[in-house]
Amino acid sequence: MRRKTNQRNAIQEVFQQKDQPMGVSEILQIGRQSVQSLNQATVYRNLKLLVAKGWLRTISTPELGMLYERAGKEHHHHFQCRLCDHLFELPGCALNDEQPIPPGFVVERHEVFLFGICSSCRE
Ligand SMILES: [Zn+2]
Ligand SMILES: [Zn+2]
Repeated sequence: MRRKTNQRNAIQEVFQQKDQPMGVSEILQIGRQSVQSLNQATVYRNLKLLVAKGWLRTISTPELGMLYERAGKEHHHHFQCRLCDHLFELPGCALNDEQPIPPGFVVERHEVFLFGICSSCRE
């Protein structure tokens, strides 16, 4: 079972090294630098496990599909760069409690995505 543990560690290291939302292919690409035996199936399996353990959370993005980020962060929004397709964290929340909600509705959560061009792509 040692090999499985190594694969999971490699995925956790990817997120420690690069603390931003990532999709499977990027996680695979970076993780392979330390554990060459990683493949799409093992990455999927370990990501699922890390989500179940509460170490990662999933973000369903409108355009990039499912991405993963470290769980337990404060509520924040995301910015998607349309040139490099990276998702960036936007700290804080600009939505206020004044948001009009129909009577009788209860809001449980929200997600906000902004779209544009990131600073490195603008250079
Ligand atoms: Zn960019
Ligand atoms: Zn918010």
